[in-house]
Amino acid sequence: MSQPIQYSIVIPVYNEEEVIHETYRRLSEVMRSTGEAYELLFVNDGSRDRTVDILIDYCGKDPSVKLLDFSRNFGHQIAITAGMDHSRGKAVVVIDADLQDPPELILEMIEKWKQGYDVVYAKRTKRKGETFFKKQTAKMFYRFLHSMTDIEIPLDTGDFRLLDRKVCDQMNNLQEKNRFVRGMVSWVGFKQTAVEYERDERLAGESKYPLKKMLKLSMDGITSFSYKPLKFAGIAGTALSVSGFFYLLIVLYLKLFTTATITGWSSLIVIQLLFSGFILIILGIMGEYIGRIYDESKQRPLYIVRDIYQKKSEKKMMFR
Ligand code: UDP
Ligand code: MG
Repeated sequence: MSQPIQYSIVIPVYNEEEVIHETYRRLSEVMRSTGEAYELLFVNDGSRDRTVDILIDYCGKDPSVKLLDFSRNFGHQIAITAGMDHSRGKAVVVIDADLQDPPELILEMIEKWKQGYDVVYAKRTKRKGETFFKKQTAKMFYRFLHSMTDIEIPLDTGDFRLLDRKVCDQMNNLQEKNRFVRGMVSWVGFKQTAVEYERDERLAGESKYPLKKMLKLSMDGITSFSYKPLKFAGIAGTALSVSGFFYLLIVLYLKLFTTATITGWSSLIVIQLLFSGFILIILGIMGEYIGRIYDESKQRPLYIVRDIYQKKSEKKMMFR
């Protein structure tokens, strides 16, 4: 395979032994139909099941398969980043391993890319087989994020997208540690367009995005692209101080000019609880930002690759 690689397909995998055969089969079929050179770049994000053995096996059989094996689970967004770092294609496609994103759509993306677009993202018109809770929270999140940020992050799009080499190179220059890749792609800019699709059900296995990881991703999305939450503290503080001041005037008036006495241990406690709650929430928001500054200041590498596998056919490869 001496042809330069035209397409790199980046596939983050975490405990996907049940789907990985089918993913490999469908992706290979689609990519072969392009008639151009491609690489399937799997990033094993610290799977604990047989995923990695299966992939090593494929690497031994098929020179277009490459595997980056992480030393532990670093998370979906980091796995995508590593894949992009190691990709060599003129166009890079990021796709989930669970076949929720139909590989056949890649052909449509390539079509758009050939028309001159630099980023082609896949917009979900429907999501099948996901819980009501997941769909609603995702929908709310995308709209909330939209209202919080100044850059245009397209609604209802995941990380399934095609990037031109130059966009991918720019992305690789962004060194932030808590990554929200789909937002970063919007931030980078270039000529972007969408293709629409209906998101299928996961082929097998269960979602690797429990609520906790979803919350982390949403916080990364918001804090990476907006500091409006920090301003919120200032605005709310001003509003509270102003109303407090007016209330003070009322109390003074009552004290000086009337005989009305103000009772109320309970009302005091309620106000006390409300306001200390409020202050703690704001401290929490600040904590989110400070934690991220801390992450940046440590300057640790984003991920650690234990091994890279690819069938012998190129010079600098490893195979064990
Ligand atoms: N994934 C990963 N690391 C993780 C969690 C998920 O690499 O810590 C991969 C997973 O194998 C899949 C993709 O990221 O290819 C999307 O995950 P999943 O399908 O579980 O998310 P959902 O579609 O439920 O949001
Ligand atoms: Mg999925």
